[in-house]
Amino acid sequence: MLTCKKSYRDIPFAHRQHLHDGHCALIHGHNWGITLTFACSETDANGFVVDFGKLKYLKTWIDEHLDHACLFNADDPETEALLASAGHLFKAYTLPNCSCEGVAQHLHGIFDNMVRTETSDRAWITEIEIIEDSKNSAAYRPD
Ligand SMILES: [Zn+2]
Repeated sequence: MLTCKKSYRDIPFAHRQHLHDGHCALIHGHNWGITLTFACSETDANGFVVDFGKLKYLKTWIDEHLDHACLFNADDPETEALLASAGHLFKAYTLPNCSCEGVAQHLHGIFDNMVRTETSDRAWITEIEIIEDSKNSAAYRPD
């Protein structure tokens, strides 16, 4: 199996872990990184797993949904009140869990489908690494 990687860096967005017993419960931001590992069983006519020049749909999705957004866990009890009182201050994005691990798993579900569609099922995403900062990251790799 051949693979290749594409990285997106310095994507500012915020999140919080409402169940955390420390400072992660506070809304805070990072300049996130996302590294996608693509795989295929057969390359395209150029010998590419994916054509790096034809991945704009991924960057567009990131810009529209994550860039300068505030991510909320779907079960965060404060989200509704925050958005009701100051919704114009947030570009909110809600997902099951906005931890590094949760973002990796969530984005895999979205991006893998997009890549499969764009490549007519020739290529897929075998791993997504989410980088929170220079010290912390997590990855999702489906079984
Ligand atoms: Zn954080």
